Amino acid sequence: MNEKLKAQLPMRKRVPDEKGFFGKFGGSFVPPELQRQMDEISHAYQVICRSHDFISQLRDIRKHFQGRPTPVYYCKNLSTKIGGARIYLKREDLNHTGAHKLNHCMGEALLAKHLGKKKLIAETGAGQHGVALATAGAYFGIETEIHMGEVDIQKEAPNVARMRILGAKIVPVTFGDKTLKEAVDSAFDSYLKDPVHSIYCIGSVVGPHPFPMMVREFQHVVGVEAREQFLEMTGELPDNVVACVGGGSNSAGIFSGFLDDPVELWGVEPLGRGPKYGDNAASLAYGTEGVMHGFNSIMIKDEKGEPGRVYSVASGLDYPSSGPEHAYWNSIGRTNAVGADDKDAIDAFYRLSRMEGIIPALESAHAVAFALKLAKERPMEDILVNLSGRGDKDMDFVIANYPEYLDKPLEW
Ligand SMILES: *Cc1c(COP(=O)(O)O)cnc(C)c1O
Repeated sequence: MNEKLKAQLPMRKRVPDEKGFFGKFGGSFVPPELQRQMDEISHAYQVICRSHDFISQLRDIRKHFQGRPTPVYYCKNLSTKIGGARIYLKREDLNHTGAHKLNHCMGEALLAKHLGKKKLIAETGAGQHGVALATAGAYFGIETEIHMGEVDIQKEAPNVARMRILGAKIVPVTFGDKTLKEAVDSAFDSYLKDPVHSIYCIGSVVGPHPFPMMVREFQHVVGVEAREQFLEMTGELPDNVVACVGGGSNSAGIFSGFLDDPVELWGVEPLGRGPKYGDNAASLAYGTEGVMHGFNSIMIKDEKGEPGRVYSVASGLDYPSSGPEHAYWNSIGRTNAVGADDKDAIDAFYRLSRMEGIIPALESAHAVAFALKLAKERPMEDILVNLSGRGDKDMDFVIANYPEYLDKPLEW
């Protein structure tokens, strides 16, 4: 393609560059032996993503196994109550397994199959990524090994049961704090023992190149569907698209469908208990530039510059950084980094459940919370929210810790 045409490519096609940089963010900062593997995966992906077989297999999986396209739904009750703005949901909670994560896990596992890999390896915190990858492993008949801190294994019994039923091997991590951070190290060690026959499946648009790009591309289906569906439903594009940002995969998926449109994009970070260090996971709001987990982005660090302590009521959002593309979009003003705290999310969790009969994941409830606020400020606009997952996993926790909403009418 000539240079003049290149300059006219859609925004999504212009980044990352061949080294994996989105502006100054991204790249691949890993030891040489791992870099060889990343180069291999990168090259294979570039070839395979243009292969007719790969594309048609993935499309078939999306439709017949995952149940895509997921619908776009107009929240009539909620919109009427808020008074003005129309609120719509992209229903990723109706994707098989109940969240968007399966979109990239199926893509990664299909890539693994094409590469002839014999084992999928990943870490998991709350177990959501582990369940999605175990599902993909079962589908393709590829051995799946999930590393999980012992503390998390105790806390997340239903997801541990799901993974075991799906046939995944769970490796309990017993050193350090026995949570996600150690699980990452353990999974990485296991991968480095046999990188030729195994593949590390990253759970979001993070990690070294090519993962941020690949995971975005596997989630892009959400944005493509949502744009078409919204146009078909209303004849127009939404004024605003809202999504929660942990690592940033569900938001990258839906945003990437609207990058070249006059649509305002809002990434909602978890403000947790407040702005103090250790009380939130709002990396774009409170973090600084730096390298961790193999990529350069904006991140929350401790005194030593290592990945810092973070917190959110939604365990899927408590990651100390965001994908490099989010740091890039935010730095050029294409997206707005905003936030919702624990209280806002719990409030939105109950409001959506009671008004629409949809129980959202606590992660997704952050996006709903911000949308409710925006709807009040902009009564003449349309707001499309990516409802990244369903809330079954959070119900016991919410009832036990926030019972004050139960057994009485909502206050408005
Ligand atoms: C994991 C998870 C998230 C956060 O991850 P992203 O990569 O930021 O999308 C959000 N919602 C749900 C339901 C999740 O399981």
